[in-house]
Amino acid sequence: MKKIKLILTLSFFYTCLPLFGDDLKATPSVLTAEEKRMVNWIEVRQDEMLSDMRRHVAMNTGTENIEGIEQYRSLFAKELNDLGFSTQLHSSESLAVLSCNGGEIKFADHLQAARTGKKENRILLNGHLDTVFPQNDQFQSLQIDEDGTLHGPGVADMKGGLLVMLYALKALDAEGKLAESNITVLLNSDEEIGSLGSRQLIERLARQHDVGLVFESSHNNEMTRSRKGLGQVRLKISGRESHAGAAHERGVSANLELAHKVIEIEKLTDYSQKVTVNVGVIAGGEKRNTIAGCADAYIDLRYPSLASGKQLQAEIRKISAEKSIANKHFPDLPKTEVWARLHRPAKKQNEMVDQLIAESMGLSLVLGEPVIGTRYSGGGTDGSIMQAVGLPTLDSLGVDGEGAHSSREKTSVKSFIARTKLAAVMIGRQIDK
Ligand SMILES: [Zn+2]
Repeated sequence: MKKIKLILTLSFFYTCLPLFGDDLKATPSVLTAEEKRMVNWIEVRQDEMLSDMRRHVAMNTGTENIEGIEQYRSLFAKELNDLGFSTQLHSSESLAVLSCNGGEIKFADHLQAARTGKKENRILLNGHLDTVFPQNDQFQSLQIDEDGTLHGPGVADMKGGLLVMLYALKALDAEGKLAESNITVLLNSDEEIGSLGSRQLIERLARQHDVGLVFESSHNNEMTRSRKGLGQVRLKISGRESHAGAAHERGVSANLELAHKVIEIEKLTDYSQKVTVNVGVIAGGEKRNTIAGCADAYIDLRYPSLASGKQLQAEIRKISAEKSIANKHFPDLPKTEVWARLHRPAKKQNEMVDQLIAESMGLSLVLGEPVIGTRYSGGGTDGSIMQAVGLPTLDSLGVDGEGAHSSREKTSVKSFIARTKLAAVMIGRQIDK
């Protein structure tokens, strides 16, 4: 019995080693008088910040709610104008969707706000205006529990993060710190569908700056140190409709072909290689008594490197090209079309980002709600796009939260306030670099 216990303990210890062995240590930090004043400025604005949170969360900004995003974006444009930023909008072309119903995705314009001054370090702050919750979702407003838990669409991902950024900038402004700063704020409107419209804009701005800070949420008070790459694939299978009773043999079922493909594609998941594939959405056919003439699928890919992403994409194309069913009357069917994008590169560890995380860990010990470590995440952010073109980017400076993309989404008042203080000090130190 004792022996088993020992083996279990040892194996647990060794399993944990790679996880904790090389984790970052907090860089001890002391606040300057100026930083203490900013922290106090934030401390006394809790009520105002919460009332803004309520207002922002109640504005629906599902990616496809163009009007909702426009209203929300105007609110930020005004706030940033008031802080001395000049603002401009960027549009992106709509995107044709490969599916049985066709159609296109339209994007709301993205907001760029900039201040230029004598300070050398050029800082790019990023966040997204959109959420995953459509206009008709049940989850549309903020709820505050007695213990200070905040529930609501976007409280963590990432209206909470945008407010952290905004109030950090306000605190910096109150201290006169923005005067000579070089800061660009980029708020895009399509992050939740993979920044398919804003990617080029993000890359262009990233190349023009020295450091990137993204206000996505953290989880369990761990900052994200590296991330998987993300991809997405759409399949459209064309078969042949036919009467299910009178002419069954004249039909080619797109549904049946898709069923075979779903199983083959899902087999590509390999946890040992950090590769996952999820056929998240499928649809096909229109009537019970008709052989399905069309079927489609929308697939999510996660992978550890560009090479593995490309390989995954190639394997899906191969599966798509192979036919699993046949009808001698219609040798060309079924036909499968593929649309694929590796929309977020994998984000590697970066020395400068590690230093920023260690600094934020040290500061958080002074400011409250300590950041306790780092994580490798399967989730993506636009920070991955920024860093892939050479901009060192810390991407989890927003609130600490959980349950994102679901009606369980939450954060806390404590985290909201603590992270705003942290953001103000971190941005302030970057301004002075
Ligand atoms: Zn997000």
